[in-house]
Amino acid sequence: MSHVRLKPSKEFKIDFHPSELDSSNVPEESKKYSQEYLSSNKLAEHENFDIMIMLESKVIYGYDYIYQNKKLILPEVDPITIFFSNAVMSYGRLQHYKIKLLEESSKAGETGKNLDLNLSGDFFQPAINCIINLQASLESFANRVIPEDYLFIDKTGNKIFPTVSYKLYNVVPKIKLIDFKQAKNKKHNKSIDKLIQLRNDIIHLKPAEKTNTGYKGTYREILDFDFIRAFNAVQSYINFYQENLVSECPCGNDYFFDKFKSE
Ligand SMILES: [Zn+2]
Repeated sequence: MSHVRLKPSKEFKIDFHPSELDSSNVPEESKKYSQEYLSSNKLAEHENFDIMIMLESKVIYGYDYIYQNKKLILPEVDPITIFFSNAVMSYGRLQHYKIKLLEESSKAGETGKNLDLNLSGDFFQPAINCIINLQASLESFANRVIPEDYLFIDKTGNKIFPTVSYKLYNVVPKIKLIDFKQAKNKKHNKSIDKLIQLRNDIIHLKPAEKTNTGYKGTYREILDFDFIRAFNAVQSYINFYQENLVSECPCGNDYFFDKFKSE
Protein backbone atom coordinates (compact mmCIF):
# COMPACT_ATOMS: atom_id res chain seq x y z
CA MET A 1 0.00 0.00 0.00
CA SER A 2 1.43 3.37 -0.97
CA HIS A 3 1.84 5.92 1.81
CA VAL A 4 -0.70 8.74 1.98
CA ARG A 5 0.11 12.37 1.39
CA LEU A 6 0.19 14.75 4.27
CA LYS A 7 -1.90 17.82 3.45
CA PRO A 8 -1.75 21.34 4.83
CA SER A 9 -4.56 22.33 7.20
CA LYS A 10 -5.72 24.94 4.69
CA GLU A 11 -4.64 25.86 1.22
CA PHE A 12 -5.67 28.33 -1.42
CA LYS A 13 -4.75 28.17 -5.07
CA ILE A 14 -3.17 31.32 -6.44
CA ASP A 15 -2.96 32.31 -10.08
CA PHE A 16 0.25 34.28 -9.93
CA HIS A 17 3.82 33.46 -9.09
CA PRO A 18 5.07 34.77 -5.71
CA SER A 19 8.05 36.35 -7.49
CA GLU A 20 5.60 38.65 -9.31
CA LEU A 21 4.72 40.33 -6.02
CA ASP A 22 5.91 43.90 -5.95
CA SER A 23 7.17 44.97 -2.52
CA SER A 24 6.68 48.63 -3.37
CA ASN A 25 2.93 48.01 -3.05
CA VAL A 26 3.27 46.98 0.59
CA PRO A 27 1.90 49.72 2.90
CA GLU A 28 4.38 51.39 5.26
CA GLU A 29 2.41 50.20 8.27
CA SER A 30 2.80 46.57 7.21
CA LYS A 31 6.50 46.98 6.66
CA LYS A 32 6.85 48.45 10.13
CA TYR A 33 4.85 45.65 11.65
CA SER A 34 6.85 42.97 9.91
CA GLN A 35 10.10 44.55 11.14
CA GLU A 36 8.75 44.46 14.69
CA TYR A 37 7.56 40.91 14.27
CA LEU A 38 10.92 39.71 12.96
CA SER A 39 12.92 41.35 15.72
CA SER A 40 10.78 40.15 18.66
CA ASN A 41 9.81 36.86 20.27
CA LYS A 42 6.11 37.58 19.85
CA LEU A 43 4.02 34.97 18.09
CA ALA A 44 1.87 36.14 15.20
CA GLU A 45 -1.49 35.45 16.85
CA HIS A 46 -0.66 37.86 19.66
CA GLU A 47 -1.48 40.52 17.12
CA ASN A 48 -4.33 38.47 15.68
CA PHE A 49 -2.39 37.50 12.60
CA ASP A 50 -2.21 34.16 10.86
CA ILE A 51 0.85 33.01 9.04
CA MET A 52 0.44 32.08 5.42
CA ILE A 53 3.21 30.49 3.43
CA MET A 54 3.34 31.24 -0.26
CA LEU A 55 4.39 28.37 -2.50
CA GLU A 56 4.62 28.03 -6.29
CA SER A 57 0.90 27.79 -7.00
CA LYS A 58 -0.76 27.98 -3.61
CA VAL A 59 -0.83 29.52 -0.19
CA ILE A 60 -0.91 27.35 2.92
CA TYR A 61 -1.31 28.10 6.62
CA GLY A 62 1.64 27.89 8.95
CA TYR A 63 2.61 28.85 12.47
CA ASP A 64 5.62 30.21 14.25
CA TYR A 65 7.64 28.49 16.93
CA ILE A 66 10.51 29.82 18.98
CA TYR A 67 13.47 27.49 18.99
CA GLN A 68 16.71 28.51 20.67
CA ASN A 69 15.71 32.14 20.47
CA LYS A 70 15.02 31.97 16.76
CA LYS A 71 11.62 32.24 15.20
CA LEU A 72 10.82 29.35 12.91
CA ILE A 73 7.93 29.12 10.47
CA LEU A 74 6.38 25.65 10.23
CA PRO A 75 3.63 24.44 7.90
CA GLU A 76 0.41 23.38 9.62
CA VAL A 77 -0.33 19.76 8.68
CA ASP A 78 -3.93 18.59 8.60
CA PRO A 79 -4.11 16.23 11.63
CA ILE A 80 -6.59 13.97 9.83
CA THR A 81 -3.90 13.15 7.29
CA ILE A 82 -1.49 12.46 10.17
CA PHE A 83 -3.90 9.99 11.79
CA PHE A 84 -4.63 8.25 8.51
CA SER A 85 -0.95 8.12 7.61
CA ASN A 86 -0.16 6.63 11.04
CA ALA A 87 -2.74 3.93 10.39
CA VAL A 88 -1.34 3.08 6.96
CA MET A 89 2.23 3.03 8.28
CA SER A 90 1.22 0.82 11.20
CA TYR A 91 -0.43 -1.58 8.76
CA GLY A 92 2.91 -1.98 6.91
CA ARG A 93 3.93 -5.53 7.72
CA LEU A 94 0.89 -6.51 9.74
CA GLN A 95 -0.01 -9.48 7.57
CA HIS A 96 3.51 -10.83 7.93
CA TYR A 97 3.36 -10.62 11.72
CA LYS A 98 -0.11 -12.13 11.80
CA ILE A 99 0.99 -15.20 9.84
CA LYS A 100 4.11 -15.46 12.00
CA LEU A 101 2.06 -15.33 15.19
CA LEU A 102 -0.43 -17.91 13.98
CA GLU A 103 2.12 -20.31 12.55
CA GLU A 104 4.59 -20.17 15.39
CA SER A 105 2.12 -20.44 18.25
CA SER A 106 1.45 -23.63 20.18
CA LYS A 107 -1.32 -25.94 19.07
CA ALA A 108 -3.82 -27.20 21.59
CA GLY A 109 -2.63 -30.51 23.01
CA GLU A 110 0.90 -29.89 21.88
CA THR A 111 3.29 -28.97 24.64
CA GLY A 112 6.82 -27.73 24.65
CA LYS A 113 6.54 -24.77 22.32
CA ASN A 114 7.52 -21.49 23.89
CA LEU A 115 4.76 -19.02 24.42
CA ASP A 116 6.36 -15.80 23.25
CA LEU A 117 4.49 -12.68 24.30
CA ASN A 118 6.57 -10.64 21.86
CA LEU A 119 5.19 -12.65 18.98
CA SER A 120 1.75 -11.39 20.00
CA GLY A 121 3.10 -7.87 20.48
CA ASP A 122 4.60 -7.79 17.00
CA PHE A 123 1.10 -8.15 15.61
CA PHE A 124 -1.17 -6.56 18.18
CA GLN A 125 0.88 -3.40 18.81
CA PRO A 126 0.76 -2.16 15.20
CA ALA A 127 -2.75 -3.60 14.74
CA ILE A 128 -4.07 -1.54 17.65
CA ASN A 129 -2.16 1.55 16.48
CA CYS A 130 -3.79 1.09 13.13
CA ILE A 131 -7.34 0.76 14.49
CA ILE A 132 -7.03 3.67 16.92
CA ASN A 133 -5.52 6.02 14.36
CA LEU A 134 -8.00 5.07 11.67
CA GLN A 135 -10.89 5.72 14.02
CA ALA A 136 -9.26 8.97 15.16
CA SER A 137 -9.16 10.22 11.58
CA LEU A 138 -12.95 9.72 11.37
CA GLU A 139 -13.70 11.19 14.77
CA SER A 140 -11.54 14.27 14.25
CA PHE A 141 -13.06 14.77 10.81
CA ALA A 142 -16.58 14.75 12.29
CA ASN A 143 -15.54 17.11 15.07
CA ARG A 144 -14.04 19.51 12.58
CA VAL A 145 -17.19 19.61 10.47
CA ILE A 146 -19.55 20.05 13.42
CA PRO A 147 -19.58 23.61 14.83
CA GLU A 148 -18.52 24.14 18.44
CA ASP A 149 -21.98 25.31 19.49
CA TYR A 150 -23.96 22.58 17.69
CA LEU A 151 -26.91 21.44 19.80
CA PHE A 152 -27.26 17.65 19.95
CA ILE A 153 -30.92 16.85 20.53
CA ASP A 154 -33.08 13.82 19.79
CA LYS A 155 -36.50 13.79 18.08
CA THR A 156 -38.26 14.77 21.29
CA GLY A 157 -35.94 17.72 21.83
CA ASN A 158 -33.92 16.18 24.65
CA LYS A 159 -30.22 16.85 24.83
CA ILE A 160 -28.09 13.83 24.01
CA PHE A 161 -24.45 12.90 24.32
CA PRO A 162 -23.53 12.00 20.74
CA THR A 163 -21.49 8.91 19.86
CA VAL A 164 -19.00 9.04 17.01
CA SER A 165 -21.41 7.02 14.82
CA TYR A 166 -24.20 9.47 15.56
CA LYS A 167 -21.97 12.36 14.51
CA LEU A 168 -20.86 10.58 11.34
CA TYR A 169 -24.27 9.36 10.19
CA ASN A 170 -26.67 11.96 11.57
CA VAL A 171 -24.93 15.26 12.11
CA VAL A 172 -22.27 15.49 9.39
CA PRO A 173 -24.82 14.72 6.59
CA LYS A 174 -27.13 17.45 7.97
CA ILE A 175 -24.38 20.02 7.96
CA LYS A 176 -22.91 19.02 4.60
CA LEU A 177 -26.37 18.49 3.04
CA ILE A 178 -25.32 15.20 1.46
CA ASP A 179 -25.51 11.78 3.01
CA PHE A 180 -22.73 9.24 2.68
CA LYS A 181 -25.05 6.56 4.01
CA GLN A 182 -27.65 6.90 1.31
CA ALA A 183 -25.23 7.47 -1.50
CA LYS A 184 -24.59 3.83 -2.44
CA ASN A 185 -21.97 3.45 0.23
CA LYS A 186 -23.65 0.87 2.43
CA LYS A 187 -20.79 -1.63 2.16
CA HIS A 188 -18.43 0.90 3.69
CA ASN A 189 -20.75 1.64 6.58
CA LYS A 190 -20.43 -1.90 7.85
CA SER A 191 -16.64 -1.56 7.97
CA ILE A 192 -16.87 1.81 9.68
CA ASP A 193 -19.28 0.43 12.30
CA LYS A 194 -16.96 -2.49 12.95
CA LEU A 195 -13.94 -0.18 13.24
CA ILE A 196 -15.67 2.06 15.77
CA GLN A 197 -16.90 -0.89 17.80
CA LEU A 198 -13.44 -2.46 17.85
CA ARG A 199 -11.77 0.79 18.83
CA ASN A 200 -14.27 1.24 21.67
CA ASP A 201 -13.71 -2.33 22.84
CA ILE A 202 -9.94 -1.76 22.86
CA ILE A 203 -10.14 1.49 24.80
CA HIS A 204 -12.69 0.18 27.29
CA LEU A 205 -11.10 -3.24 27.76
CA LYS A 206 -11.92 -4.61 31.18
CA PRO A 207 -11.28 -8.06 32.62
CA ALA A 208 -15.01 -8.47 32.97
CA GLU A 209 -16.05 -11.90 31.74
CA LYS A 210 -16.87 -14.63 34.23
CA THR A 211 -14.82 -17.37 32.61
CA ASN A 212 -11.50 -15.65 32.45
CA THR A 213 -10.75 -12.13 31.28
CA GLY A 214 -12.61 -9.82 28.97
CA TYR A 215 -9.81 -9.55 26.47
CA LYS A 216 -9.97 -12.67 24.36
CA GLY A 217 -13.02 -11.72 22.31
CA THR A 218 -11.42 -8.45 21.24
CA TYR A 219 -8.12 -10.13 20.37
CA ARG A 220 -9.93 -12.68 18.19
CA GLU A 221 -11.80 -9.90 16.46
CA ILE A 222 -8.59 -7.98 15.77
CA LEU A 223 -7.10 -11.13 14.24
CA ASP A 224 -10.17 -11.42 11.99
CA PHE A 225 -10.46 -7.70 11.20
CA ASP A 226 -10.31 -6.73 7.54
CA PHE A 227 -7.95 -3.75 7.66
CA ILE A 228 -7.96 -3.11 3.91
CA ARG A 229 -11.74 -2.81 3.83
CA ALA A 230 -11.58 -0.45 6.78
CA PHE A 231 -8.99 1.74 5.04
CA ASN A 232 -11.17 1.92 1.94
CA ALA A 233 -14.26 2.72 3.97
CA VAL A 234 -12.67 5.52 6.02
CA GLN A 235 -10.99 7.02 2.97
CA SER A 236 -14.28 6.90 1.04
CA TYR A 237 -16.21 8.51 3.88
CA ILE A 238 -13.76 11.36 4.40
CA ASN A 239 -13.24 12.02 0.70
CA PHE A 240 -17.00 11.95 0.12
CA TYR A 241 -17.27 15.07 2.26
CA GLN A 242 -13.90 16.65 1.55
CA GLU A 243 -12.68 15.75 -1.88
CA ASN A 244 -9.26 14.15 -2.08
CA LEU A 245 -8.29 14.85 1.54
CA VAL A 246 -6.97 11.32 1.97
CA SER A 247 -5.00 10.35 -1.09
CA GLU A 248 -2.16 8.01 -1.83
CA CYS A 249 1.12 9.56 -2.84
CA PRO A 250 1.85 9.12 -6.54
CA CYS A 251 5.47 8.18 -5.71
CA GLY A 252 4.11 4.73 -4.80
CA ASN A 253 6.59 4.22 -1.96
CA ASP A 254 5.43 2.16 0.97
CA TYR A 255 6.72 3.52 4.27
CA PHE A 256 5.93 1.72 7.47
CA PHE A 257 6.72 1.58 11.16
CA ASP A 258 8.53 -1.55 12.17
CA LYS A 259 10.50 -2.97 15.04
CA PHE A 260 14.27 -2.59 14.95
CA LYS A 261 16.89 -3.42 17.49
CA SER A 262 19.05 -0.45 18.41
CA GLU A 263 22.69 -1.15 17.66
ZN1 LIG B 1 5.41 9.72 -1.73
